[in-house]
Amino acid sequence: MMNVSDTLSEVKNYIDGKFERNDQNAMDVLSPLDGSKISSIPLSTTQDVDDAVQAAKKAFPEWSGMTFKERVQIFFRYRNLLEQNMDELTKLVQLENGKTYGEAKAEVEKSMELCEFAVSMPQIVVNEVQEVSKGVECRIERKPLGVVASITPFNFPNMVPHWTLPNALVLGNTMVMKPSELVPLSTVRMAELLKEAGLPNGVFNIVNGGKEVVEAICDHPKIEAVSFVGSTKVAKIVYKRATSNLKRCVALGGAKNHLLVLPDANPEMTASNVVASMSGCAGQRCMAASVMVGVDKVQHIIDLMVEDAKAMVPGDNLGSVITAEAKKRIEGYIDEAEKNGAKILLDGRNTTVKGKEGGYYVGPTIIDYVTTDMSVAREEIFGPVISIIRAKDLDEAIEIENGSNYGNAAAVFTQSGGLAKQVMERASAGMIGVNIGVPVPREPFSFGGWNESKFGVGDITGRSSIEFWTQNKKTTTKWNPEAQTNWMS
Ligand code: NAD
Repeated sequence: MMNVSDTLSEVKNYIDGKFERNDQNAMDVLSPLDGSKISSIPLSTTQDVDDAVQAAKKAFPEWSGMTFKERVQIFFRYRNLLEQNMDELTKLVQLENGKTYGEAKAEVEKSMELCEFAVSMPQIVVNEVQEVSKGVECRIERKPLGVVASITPFNFPNMVPHWTLPNALVLGNTMVMKPSELVPLSTVRMAELLKEAGLPNGVFNIVNGGKEVVEAICDHPKIEAVSFVGSTKVAKIVYKRATSNLKRCVALGGAKNHLLVLPDANPEMTASNVVASMSGCAGQRCMAASVMVGVDKVQHIIDLMVEDAKAMVPGDNLGSVITAEAKKRIEGYIDEAEKNGAKILLDGRNTTVKGKEGGYYVGPTIIDYVTTDMSVAREEIFGPVISIIRAKDLDEAIEIENGSNYGNAAAVFTQSGGLAKQVMERASAGMIGVNIGVPVPREPFSFGGWNESKFGVGDITGRSSIEFWTQNKKTTTKWNPEAQTNWMS
């Protein structure tokens, strides 16, 4: 197991360029790989949030007064530091989150890509100006909001913070970030590398903790915008509380993604895509496949899926789930489905990994003959589990997909362009895949779901985030175009 540095063995808040910790309450941070204690974090208070906001507020005039190009230079350097420190950052994600090395590395690479979009902002964000009548010009300029906040979940300790941080900062805002208390280590290294890249003190701050910190962020009068990523239950709380305090808010919630498999789908490609989607990151992705709707004759594809899933080995190419409670919850869902008459084709319950008996592992699980009233069909499981619902035709399959309260992603597997088009048009989800199990849009396209998978206007990354992190200043000027240079006479 990786040894962590001093700044990581006892996590501190990062305020005004300094790591500090008031030792009031602390919480242990455990590695899900084997259940061992790897660090501890402060459970910060409203006062800590205020300290961070004051630092961010103090830093704002100078930071927002720099040119776009000056701010961007820091993120060029930072992006390169992510690359230079790739192995360490990858191992850190693995240690605190439990995913495999390859999955963790892909996450850090995505963070680099997010920075690459941010550094292209001077080319994208071009202000508008037009002469609207003789001598009168209207211009629109994008201005930063001020101090903004970002609250992140456990499942992507490195990538999700980069959904917000580079764009918000390059656009001139200063930030207070609250990482998940389960995975606080990656954010500490981000702060250190940002400082190394030349980010001025106070522009980026971290306050660790749980509910109290989130509530203080939603209530703080000097925070202008709140971005949240996490479960739907908390997304609703944050969205209501932040907007009732008259803040801008975008809150991304949970998911229940349906993959529609038609009988003409390429069997091998479909089976491997569905299995990769349900088991990647141990199913702890908001884009993970959770329900497969098999339309008509797809038994041959299900058989292949079971074979493919057997190759997913916990502790090897299948990572752990985040906590002992998560393992219990996931296994509880499988128990309940079995009790209600579903057929367990592959059972990942009671999995242990030799040498890592304290870790939290669930094997790949495939549940067949699930009906729409079962909890495994309706609720987010967030583990390497897929439920198969059988549908007689495409209309019924789309109806099942649209019956979900969520709407993050949906996908269809078919070789018919016309049938794929019907799903593209009719599925009620923000991100649609055709023959792709994890349809994540890449920059400059934006990431965000529909229904109870997202609250607020716009999406969190890409072009859409530019709207979220800025406000328009409209200036009208009038100068006499007939003016003469007569001051010399
Ligand atoms: P979570 O909602 O439990 O926690 C998210 C954040 O909210 C954390 O920082 C946590 O400290 C805070 N929090 C938790 N309970 C709170 C409360 N009662 N009041 C105020 N704040 C609270 O989510 P999680 O378990 O860390 O992450 C997994 C969830 O995130 C899944 O539902 C997953 O689908 C979702 N997720 C969604 C997306 C997306 O893009 N839609 C992306 C990643 C994760």
